Amino acid sequence: MDFACPLTVSEGIETISRIDEEVVFLSGGTDLVIKLQSGEIEPAWLMDISLIPELKFIKEAGDRIMIGSGTTFSQLSESALVRQKARCLSQAASQVGSAQIRNRATIGGNIANASPAGDSLPALLVLEAWVSVIGPQGFRRVTFDQLQARDGYGLQKKELITEIDFPLWKPYGNAQMISAFGKIGSRTAVSIARLNMAAMVEFDSKDQRILNSRWAVGALGLTPFRLETLERELQGKKVDQDLAEEIADHLTGVVDRAIPGRSSQGYKRQAIRGLAYDLLEDLFQ
Ligand SMILES: Cc1cc2nc3c(=O)[nH]c(=O)nc-3n(C[C@H](O)[C@H](O)[C@H](O)COP(=O)(O)OP(=O)(O)OC[C@H]3O[C@@H](n4cnc5c(N)ncnc54)[C@H](O)[C@@H]3O)c2cc1C
Repeated sequence: MDFACPLTVSEGIETISRIDEEVVFLSGGTDLVIKLQSGEIEPAWLMDISLIPELKFIKEAGDRIMIGSGTTFSQLSESALVRQKARCLSQAASQVGSAQIRNRATIGGNIANASPAGDSLPALLVLEAWVSVIGPQGFRRVTFDQLQARDGYGLQKKELITEIDFPLWKPYGNAQMISAFGKIGSRTAVSIARLNMAAMVEFDSKDQRILNSRWAVGALGLTPFRLETLERELQGKKVDQDLAEEIADHLTGVVDRAIPGRSSQGYKRQAIRGLAYDLLEDLFQ
């Protein structure tokens, strides 16, 4: 195959615009190289985007956090800014694969690869992230939710993810915000999630009631999804053991509706309860 190695985004896009054949981006290579080696894909062109410095950054700008698509999970998990402002993403990043994988694997690659079990994806859903994309047809910015739904807004061939951004939560009154990510795999390390979940909870620190919350689960369908019914039901509820039971019961129902009759249903309807208790303990100690 032919190989291109641009040093800027504009050089990359200009090169793509001149190529009629299929071009596949290579970032960390942790998903792609396996597919190339097995012969699953045989693109005419490979474009290495791992040497483009402008795709590697984490910064706070105005009331948003912006992350370059070429940022590795090691960089994300080591970032104090991400840990403070988007704890669930920091936790998700630190649980991806092994140290070697995290040193190569990028958030852009995780989004583009679109595995149902991708660990950053539930976190991006609860953070209500947006994704910036550029291609031969120009630039666009879509919500991560729209991008992964693939219904007209999905990532097109030759489109490069450049940036991910999400709003910062603003404190007010007695309100506090905390987020967390949890995952269950077949082993404790280097394991693809059998279930993963992120939650972002805004609560009244005085009377311990939930003001608003966002929940998302992965590995239960083609793409991770938000739990909007649960989010509505939790509004105004006091955080206690009964609430933990209520959340666990709701999640069991989510599994039953998502994968009825699947061989993993029995396991996942139990496992998700444990995951919920772990997440709640992490959120509220
Ligand atoms: C041993 C092992 C363990 C793993 N463990 C986990 C895990 O625990 N959790 C998890 O979520 N994943 C895991 N993965 C999967 C993988 O590491 C992640 O999906 C990773 O984020 C992919 O990023 P990458 O930069 O390596 O992508 P690449 O392999 O370079 O690319 C993946 C796909 O995305 C496209 N792409 C990459 N960057 C862009 C971009 N900026 N714009 C458009 N398209 C792009 C490529 O063309 C390709 O189709 C594991 C993989 C391995 C091999």
